[in-house]
Amino acid sequence: MSIATPCPTSPHRDPWKSHATRIVSITAEAPGVRTYELAFEEPAHRDAFRFAAGQFNMLYLPGIGEAAISISSDPATAGTLAHTVRAVGNVTDALARLGVGGQVFVRGPFGNPWPVDRVAGRDVVIVAGGLGLASQRAAILRLASGRSCRSIGVLHGAKRPDGLLYTREYDAWRAAGVDLRTIVDEADAAWPGPRGLVTSLLADTIRDAAATTILCCGPDPMMFGVAETAIGRGVAPHDVHLSLERNMACAVAHCGLCQFGPTFVCRDGPVLRYDRIAQLTRIPQL
Ligand SMILES: Cc1cc2nc3c(=O)[nH]c(=O)nc-3n(C[C@H](O)[C@H](O)[C@H](O)COP(=O)(O)OP(=O)(O)OC[C@H]3O[C@@H](n4cnc5c(N)ncnc54)[C@H](O)[C@@H]3O)c2cc1C
Repeated sequence: MSIATPCPTSPHRDPWKSHATRIVSITAEAPGVRTYELAFEEPAHRDAFRFAAGQFNMLYLPGIGEAAISISSDPATAGTLAHTVRAVGNVTDALARLGVGGQVFVRGPFGNPWPVDRVAGRDVVIVAGGLGLASQRAAILRLASGRSCRSIGVLHGAKRPDGLLYTREYDAWRAAGVDLRTIVDEADAAWPGPRGLVTSLLADTIRDAAATTILCCGPDPMMFGVAETAIGRGVAPHDVHLSLERNMACAVAHCGLCQFGPTFVCRDGPVLRYDRIAQLTRIPQL
């Protein structure tokens, strides 16, 4: 793919062009984390916009800047798309000050998606650390609705119970056959679930390693730990997929900000097969 070529799923030819959207709804997910449902202002773009689970957009607020944010809604939903955002800096803090009706410009979609169309008959285990679940919600919704895979496990860890995302959807996910398990680092006596790292739930969840696909998103040490634990249980390295987060600016493999060895996370990722990056994860300078 050349540096000027947009993602094949992009409905427009110009990867540099932002399209105006309006905020349709805002849902509080966790302290400082909100889900923004957006609708493109141009009807033609609204109808044509397509994305795949795991891709991201660049959200642009004029006069402030752009930030890479995963698309957290179901790709099958027509008319709107969702982004779940933690307010941590220039763009995301400004976004948090907008209300329903506020204008956000969107460039995308970009990046390599989760392999949800290549898991027929397999056990899929989705492992999410904190906000990582935002990039995986689209995959959960796709897999739960398509059911070509044999089973769907979701392991979601957070620092505290109030950091767990999408809690209002858990009943529906479970009703759709998702084996959802949550774990937190710290909790008071009222927390009924386990405490510890999400990695500690993984070993029990892998029942048939040769038929297991892992989709993982979270902080790097957690993801690399999940990958090594899964491989230690017999999962093939090429069946472990990690979504990497790196600072990025152009999103089309031009500026080099997100370069990870020979890999551009914006173009070759964010979802990358572990066998292709395992060596790179051992180089501290990267
Ligand atoms: C593919 C992808 C998907 C993502 N998906 C989501 C998502 O779904 N939701 C979400 O909330 N976030 C997501 N992020 C993270 C988000 O892009 C960053 O948090 C982004 O920096 C926020 O922009 P900002 O302008 O608000 O913050 P910034 O002003 O950029 O500041 C954010 C923090 O990062 C530090 N920082 C900024 N730039 C650099 C740099 N060049 N080098 C070192 N440190 C720096 C700042 O000091 C600050 O602590 C994603 C990132 C990627 C790459």
